[in-house]
Amino acid sequence: MSALYIHIPFCTQACYYCDFHFSTNLSQKGLLVDCICKELEMRVGGWRGGEAEGLRGGEMERWRGEQIYKKNMPIYLPTLPPFSLSPFPPLNPSTLPPLNPSTLLPLNPSTLLPLNPSTLPSLSSLYFGGGTPSLLGAGELHQIFQTIHRLFEVEKEAEITLEANPNDLTAEKLALFREVGINRLSIGIQSFHEPHLKMLNRNHNREDSFACLERSRQAGFEKFTLDLIYGIPAPSHDIWAEDMRLAVGMGVNHISAYALTIEQKTVFGQWVGKGKMEMPNENFQAEQMEMLMDFLPAQGFEQYEISNFAKNEAYSRHNTHYWKKGAYLGVGPSAHSYNGQARQWNVSNNALYIKQIQADILPAETEILSETDHQNEYILTSLRTKWGCDVQIFADSPTHQRTLERLVEQGFLTMENNFVYLTRAGKLLADAITEKLLF
Ligand code: SF4
Repeated sequence: MSALYIHIPFCTQACYYCDFHFSTNLSQKGLLVDCICKELEMRVGGWRGGEAEGLRGGEMERWRGEQIYKKNMPIYLPTLPPFSLSPFPPLNPSTLPPLNPSTLLPLNPSTLLPLNPSTLPSLSSLYFGGGTPSLLGAGELHQIFQTIHRLFEVEKEAEITLEANPNDLTAEKLALFREVGINRLSIGIQSFHEPHLKMLNRNHNREDSFACLERSRQAGFEKFTLDLIYGIPAPSHDIWAEDMRLAVGMGVNHISAYALTIEQKTVFGQWVGKGKMEMPNENFQAEQMEMLMDFLPAQGFEQYEISNFAKNEAYSRHNTHYWKKGAYLGVGPSAHSYNGQARQWNVSNNALYIKQIQADILPAETEILSETDHQNEYILTSLRTKWGCDVQIFADSPTHQRTLERLVEQGFLTMENNFVYLTRAGKLLADAITEKLLF
């Protein structure tokens, strides 16, 4: 199984808490979609090579992006850069006759060599995140899907998720999403409480949330996940209790809930810096997390990851793939990729991304993971999930084994069949506990 992530870095307005990469200037949306399609073309050869053969040291030197890459560049890059295949000496542009556009033969797509479907990488999960991918228009979405279907084999049962804001989900958009094969919607509800929506600077209201789910069902969608935010400053826990109740009442089988965090570069971050806003109260947030861990399981949801709850094992295929350390390819500004041996991340700047892709350069940096990095990443992700962390990883470290024993005694961890899991108390202090177990 392989997973593809596509980052659409545009939003109509900036939510005050958000530090994802996005721009509210939509004028380059079409151009950026062209570049995403081109990036897919540029990477797909390397994706195949990476999966089959792992790192390909030295390959980088032959790639035009060498000035921004390190040596031993991996995987996601075309393994045979087009110009390295040419048996001809380089052309000198100054000696070439000018081209006359009227004499150029148009490209006939039917005469292009088809890719051999049996050699295409297959995708079992495709995820459109952002930003706000529901802002994509029909032409843009068709263009991306045509590129994907030409370069990948999308498995018949693939989960294809698109993140959406409630007020983008019009009947026309929903029909379009169905037409291209999207079969799961991740809807950014965040809260049903109007003053909270305004405070967060969301561009939708409570009624939009109810109406969009109804329209989505009418359009034939069955798989949803709703995003909620807890720990928003309030005089009591009543609003959060109501938010959870309304979310469950929408009849979905997956809910993600995140604590409000204050990131420096956001509007909230600036307000806190200037003393115009207080940091969310940690105890207040912990109490709301406890409410979450009580209420959702009582309604039939399983907490399969600290922030993610599913009914009837409707786990997010994409995120589960990340947490189980599966390989994935990410395209678009700020997107991350991982091939089992190295991580790569694209530049978080739309203009720079477009410029580099137009110049045939992949605007990415790479980190080849050490053994310790792999171990730590495994601990960080596995401990947050219901599948737990294999204690074998600590077998050679008496220090870690002692820490494990202590955390079990203190009631933060539990051990079963040589796997270790966070307890309820442990989940409330997950970051601090994980920190103690890192190498
Ligand atoms: S819509 Fe989503 S990505 Fe855009 S600013 Fe709001 S939270 Fe961030």
